[in-house]
Amino acid sequence: MQVTILGCGSSHGVPSLNCDCFVCKSENIKNKRKRASIFVETQKTKILIDTSPDLRQQCLENDIRRIDAIIYTHDHSDHVAGIDDARRLCKNRQPIDAYIDDVTFDKLNKRYDYIFQTSDPLYYPLLKRIKLDPFQKIGDINVVAFDQIHGSIISQGIRLDNVAYSTDFNEIPEESLAKLENLDVWIVDCLRYSYAPTHSYLEKSLLLIERVKPKLAVLVHMGHEIEYEEMSKILPKNIIAAYDNMKI
Ligand SMILES: [Zn+2]
Ligand SMILES: [Zn+2]
Repeated sequence: MQVTILGCGSSHGVPSLNCDCFVCKSENIKNKRKRASIFVETQKTKILIDTSPDLRQQCLENDIRRIDAIIYTHDHSDHVAGIDDARRLCKNRQPIDAYIDDVTFDKLNKRYDYIFQTSDPLYYPLLKRIKLDPFQKIGDINVVAFDQIHGSIISQGIRLDNVAYSTDFNEIPEESLAKLENLDVWIVDCLRYSYAPTHSYLEKSLLLIERVKPKLAVLVHMGHEIEYEEMSKILPKNIIAAYDNMKI
């Protein structure tokens, strides 16, 4: 299985608009972060997690031409707003399978009603909603979804075989942590160094990684407070900071 980090940035992306800090001004490509999304593929199955506002650019840079399914983690705009860009990935006007939990579907269906059904025969629905279950098989990948606390909402953590993606959380309940045993790779939210109310931050991410013990942990959803080289120097051996288009 190969995972591509399509975007490892926070909701504003890096560089952020109207910011002249040294990370936003950095010329290092590893400090340029698009909005959070990953692409997971086996020989048989290609899964996109979330449709970030940068989806078009992410697909161009990684030559993504086909996807079998999209899984949504939650309805926040930085994880959804590229939804229309997925139309170019539909095969023969067939809607793409989209795995979405009930609460997120309710919100997306109100915001983007035309995506799921249309009365105009000249347009076709882009996504076919499938309920995201705690356990299901998508193609040849075993998918486990688990609740994460993300401020006042619940986001979905997604395990795909022995790789798990935990973006946008500030707490992971015990019963969810139980689903993270024996991971090869855990991709984990780490917004910044200091405390954040709706996201994980360095100290919390490190503690959780120590508890979950994946073979490798990859930090994502990073804001402009984090400079790639500086962060890489202080991380333990089994933990790395992500950069856009990184392949694992
Ligand atoms: Zn986010
Ligand atoms: Zn969010």
